Amino acid sequence: MNDTLPVIAIPPVVEESLTDAERADLTARIKAQLIAQDAVLVAHYYTSADLQRLAEETGGCVSDSLEMARFGHAAKAKTLIVAGVRFMGETAKILSPEKRVLMPDLGAECSLDLSCPADKFAAFCDQHPERTVVVYANTSAAVKARADWMVTSSIAVRVVAHLHAQGKKILWAPDRFLGDYVQRQTGADMLLWQGACVIHERFKADGIRALHRQHPEAAILVHPESPFEVIALADRVGSTTQLIRAVTEMPNPTFIVATDNGIFYKMQAAAPGKLLLEAPTGGVGATCVSCAHCPWMAMNGLRKVLHALETGANEIHIDPATGQRAIHAINRMLSFAGQTGITLAGLSAD
Ligand code: SF4
Repeated sequence: MNDTLPVIAIPPVVEESLTDAERADLTARIKAQLIAQDAVLVAHYYTSADLQRLAEETGGCVSDSLEMARFGHAAKAKTLIVAGVRFMGETAKILSPEKRVLMPDLGAECSLDLSCPADKFAAFCDQHPERTVVVYANTSAAVKARADWMVTSSIAVRVVAHLHAQGKKILWAPDRFLGDYVQRQTGADMLLWQGACVIHERFKADGIRALHRQHPEAAILVHPESPFEVIALADRVGSTTQLIRAVTEMPNPTFIVATDNGIFYKMQAAAPGKLLLEAPTGGVGATCVSCAHCPWMAMNGLRKVLHALETGANEIHIDPATGQRAIHAINRMLSFAGQTGITLAGLSAD
């Protein structure tokens, strides 16, 4: 199968380091720029607390990738500044081609997106023309343009079950773990691209079991980009938005959370009285026991937001023909969600 996946160089996690005075100065200048440029900040749950707080304070949005794009589309602002990774900026541009979309750092990638180059993916699809092509949101515009359907993690099972009931065979990309989870849930015939999220694949089932023995009252929350042995331990499997909702819905006082630790800012705010523990990622002898933070998400920061706003740097451009084909795959999911009574808020993604 796709045995020529690119080797992905994982950068170190470098968080923005600011004094209180620098933070206050940057925040004030960004707020002024947002007004002057008729811009709005949309930030992913995995970005820094500084960025999430600023997005909230300025009438922007903190959410998953799909809601970020949906919010940007509905916003009156002429410029969207998307703090996240590149495919999120691209999805925002696909849904809002008339708006200017800026990103703090165009080098902020995603290992799932990087694992699935459009030319190799197209060749793979060409080898299996009998299969319906379903891709995860964490893909480039060009890969979405080659797909029949784009899905988010929260609707993937329902879409694939629907296609399976119609007798369709699936070609799935790029996340092998999410694909495996969907296959187990639906029983569909799925051919999987072999990509993975470099963060979620690190969670260790043994470490989670050991932590759970120390906190038997805890519920285990797992994002489905994680390996099967980790998902098998979960009390709740879900997308970022679904996991945040879980801490408010479930009665447990403690949660072991297997996803990027950037989510703790909103999760703790949603359930201030609850104890949130990071699921272990480190194996025996590891120097970092719980280090689930995306290095590309960490490339976002206040300084870079200000730079993009002041200079217009890092604008996202999508070839219009590619955008039109990509939106077809996205609209199929939205239409399916509408027909089956799933609200946009229930369609959360990474
Ligand atoms: S956490 Fe994983 S899936 Fe999310 S942006 Fe980073 S590499 Fe991609």
